[in-house]
Amino acid sequence: CGIVGYIGKRDVAPLLLEGLQRLEYRGYDSAGIAVQTRGSGLKSVKAKGRVRDLEAKLPKRFAGTAGIAHTRWATHGAPNDVNAHPHLDPEGKVAVVHNGIIDNASDLRAKLAADGVELVSETDTEVLAHLVARAQADTLEGRVQEALRHIDGTYGIAVLHADFPDRIVVARNGSPVVLGIGEHEMLVASDVAALVSHTRQVVTLNDGEMATIKADDYRTYTTEGSRTSTSPETVEWAA
Ligand code: GLU
Repeated sequence: CGIVGYIGKRDVAPLLLEGLQRLEYRGYDSAGIAVQTRGSGLKSVKAKGRVRDLEAKLPKRFAGTAGIAHTRWATHGAPNDVNAHPHLDPEGKVAVVHNGIIDNASDLRAKLAADGVELVSETDTEVLAHLVARAQADTLEGRVQEALRHIDGTYGIAVLHADFPDRIVVARNGSPVVLGIGEHEMLVASDVAALVSHTRQVVTLNDGEMATIKADDYRTYTTEGSRTSTSPETVEWAA
């Protein structure tokens, strides 16, 4: 339902929680967050209920300068802590948040299970974490593209990978993804409402488009890998 991501210099958890609160008006049943820590990989916390329930579960030390967060409106699997996003692979290297519906999720789940993958949630989304973790490309962008080739359905996604701590990779097909262009920081969200307290410079992705955001730059390209040209627009917003 709602996605927020940030990469930059500021401590990410409070900033992402604030972003999720700005998306609450859209409705949701659970929420979750994953951060890229310095030196100890990804950490994730998820909670059924309100953003404040998630906040109450966060450990005191949850520091990081890149992260993704989600408010979920369940389509596949009951609203509970396990089914909340982000979804991680078994090694905890990949974290994915997803808006939309993966139509061939049950096929993909069956194939992964036949390959010995243990699925821990009932969601359609979890397959994405496994597919990215098992992809062979050298780059995170290439791995996400490989994973998306298996997917039929709609998505707005944001992906963190412990081995690629300097970036967040996002993709859009039928579910909105907007980049927020800051000064030495970049944001991503499913809705400009979560961005406007940080920047008014936005780039709206088209269907079939992806982006890589890093603290100091961003680029957009298609799911097939060709570069797309985008320049930021200024959004008007009454504070
Ligand atoms: N289909 C996904 C799920 O049920 C995402 C739902 C959403 O857009 O929040 O977990």
